[in-house]
Amino acid sequence: MMALLFAAAALWALAWVFGVPMRVRLVVLGVVWLAIVAAHLLLPAEIPFRVNTGGDARPWLVLAILALAVWGYRALLARLRNRAHAKAPAQPDTAPKPVFTDTELTRYARHMMLREVGGPGQRALKQAKVLVIGAGGLGSPALLYLAAAGVGTIGVIDDDTVDGTNLQRQIIHTDARIGMPKVFSAQAQMQALNPFVTVQPYNRRLTEAEAEQLFAQYDLILDGTDNFDTRYLTNRIAVQCSKPLIAAAITQWEGQIALYDPARGGPCFECLFPERPAPGLVPSCAEAGVIAPLPGVLGSMMAVEALKTLTHAGASLRGALVIYDGLYGESRRMTTHARADCPVCHGKGATA
Ligand SMILES: [Zn+2]
Repeated sequence: MMALLFAAAALWALAWVFGVPMRVRLVVLGVVWLAIVAAHLLLPAEIPFRVNTGGDARPWLVLAILALAVWGYRALLARLRNRAHAKAPAQPDTAPKPVFTDTELTRYARHMMLREVGGPGQRALKQAKVLVIGAGGLGSPALLYLAAAGVGTIGVIDDDTVDGTNLQRQIIHTDARIGMPKVFSAQAQMQALNPFVTVQPYNRRLTEAEAEQLFAQYDLILDGTDNFDTRYLTNRIAVQCSKPLIAAAITQWEGQIALYDPARGGPCFECLFPERPAPGLVPSCAEAGVIAPLPGVLGSMMAVEALKTLTHAGASLRGALVIYDGLYGESRRMTTHARADCPVCHGKGATA
């Protein structure tokens, strides 16, 4: 039997050298095998052909089973390979595109070298959506720094137009844009600073009717308005939508800032300021005056806290209020607490 196998192998090689197609060689081998097996099964045992080919059909059957197993394995491999190739042309579409262009990598290099930000942090900023309420004193530096930092989508809502008296502190606007809606003036400045971010302007006052639907589109809300109706409305809707809210306020030489996020712990704005001041009791910037860089300090702090929140860096101002006194160059950080009788958050941040 071994001699016969060697002869078959030699013939196979010879046929290969002469270029006989694989299919023809397989058919010939199959016919020979069939003849041998048939001879063993049908002819008497003493026939020379049977004696010379081993005298037993079983080894030939085992050989056939082995050959079938090898063929099956090869067919399976070929099928898998074909499937991989079939998928290959679609690969360029499904492969993740690089998040940043080379220009952006250069632009954000000083950010990415910070251990707390790095590549993942910068990517989180690019994917983030932040809504800033008010394009005034606090909004000016906050919006500029959010754009400079590479926050992917920045919404800004304000119903006011640029006025000459704003320019003493609202540095996102320019003299040439007096009379222009503030949101469009802010958008122009932000996109001049960083064309890689998307700015979404809303030239109107925030209303109860649209607040919820608007907040739902963003990850984080920044409140830099100077009117109490909007402040309380913003807080209420932010709590309702479980969106973190960074709110700051300024007057004359002093400002304050906090992160209100009862869904993840701590109080809401109304926990700290349950009583809405009577109209006219708390003077606005227009009535009391404000030192020019004060909104710059607090608005920049809002941007810092926003970037920390989005990249999960450091310790947030959740459950804390920072008060900055410019006149004496002092700042204080106070711990704040949720109130169970708060009509907005019901003190749920106390246990969160
Ligand atoms: Zn509350």
